[in-house]
Amino acid sequence: MISRLAKARRIVVKIGSALLVDAKTGTIKASWLSSLIDDLADARVRGAEIIIVSSGAIALGRRTLGLPKGKLKLEESQAAAAVGQIALAQAWSEALRTRNIVAAQVLVTLRDTEERRRYLNARATLSTLLEQGAIPVINENDTVATSEIRYGDNDRLAARVASMMSGDCLVLLSDIDGLYTAPPDQKGASFLAEVKEITPEIEAMAGKPISGVGSGGMITKIEAGKIALGAGCNMVIASGHEMHPFRRILDGERCTWFVANASALQSRKRWIAGTLQPIGHLVVDDGAAAALAKGKSLLPAGVRNVEGSFMRGDTVSIIAATGREIARGLVAYDAGDAARIIGLKSSEIEKVLGFRGRDELIHRDDMVLMGGDRT
Ligand code: GLU
Repeated sequence: MISRLAKARRIVVKIGSALLVDAKTGTIKASWLSSLIDDLADARVRGAEIIIVSSGAIALGRRTLGLPKGKLKLEESQAAAAVGQIALAQAWSEALRTRNIVAAQVLVTLRDTEERRRYLNARATLSTLLEQGAIPVINENDTVATSEIRYGDNDRLAARVASMMSGDCLVLLSDIDGLYTAPPDQKGASFLAEVKEITPEIEAMAGKPISGVGSGGMITKIEAGKIALGAGCNMVIASGHEMHPFRRILDGERCTWFVANASALQSRKRWIAGTLQPIGHLVVDDGAAAALAKGKSLLPAGVRNVEGSFMRGDTVSIIAATGREIARGLVAYDAGDAARIIGLKSSEIEKVLGFRGRDELIHRDDMVLMGGDRT
């Protein structure tokens, strides 16, 4: 089980407020943070890419603003987050710098991971940061997120990020070491080391939401598990109380693994094929059709015709010269721009559109090959 983390190539690590912020002083636990960063830097040396989802803005900011203890009103939380996020980003940035790692602050709302166009934008930015060797440090944009566009908890946000980025492991570091069949202090409660499927029984074990420094509790972790497993990403709930919490998981410390049974890419592709209705067509030449069959991306050069009015991020069908639908995917250009660049080399896109977009019209990770006819 440990090897799941050791083998993971793209890891999303979520850190709860209670771990990062000292409840007594309302300040960052600097030595703990530095021990975690040592672990993450080591994981990078082993070839893993790391994305951090960090809570703590509200916990840091409420003290500075002198807000009362207990539950805050939404506007108060948002005000606290506005103050605390600066300190949070600074703490990450400084701590990562000691290991020569560049930190990148990314603030998102629910919509950024659910609406396809925003999703593609967020994903492209995060991919670029990873390519450049930076570590994205993500939090919810609490200050602007009104209730309908809010996650409210970073467990689900982290799971969405893991799914969006095709992560292979989501690590939820929290103040509990995993899932128990009943509240841990209850007699007969036993620890679960592995969960293969989130059944109603598993959900029932999560019990009621806990209120504390963060907003999570076990319920949001189980919800996160559903999202992660649905995207083919393993998830682990582990205690972050001690120093070097990430290394401790690798060393075999007790934790609960939620095990995915499909690869991240397969389930992402199932999602594209099954749940998104194509609203346009790209007719491709034989060369492009052959390239796609070999698992390549669709480049503008191989497209003959653009049909339909779609926006960037919409699902379109890729049609062979014979009229057969050979693939579906999320398109990287609006219909108008796509029509202007078809037949061109990727290096010519900028000259024609006036901006440098993606090289691919549809990236292979955003595409699924299909059988069947167009009609
Ligand atoms: N975004 C919140 C914060 O930074 C945390 C939400 C959570 O802990 O789940 O304070």
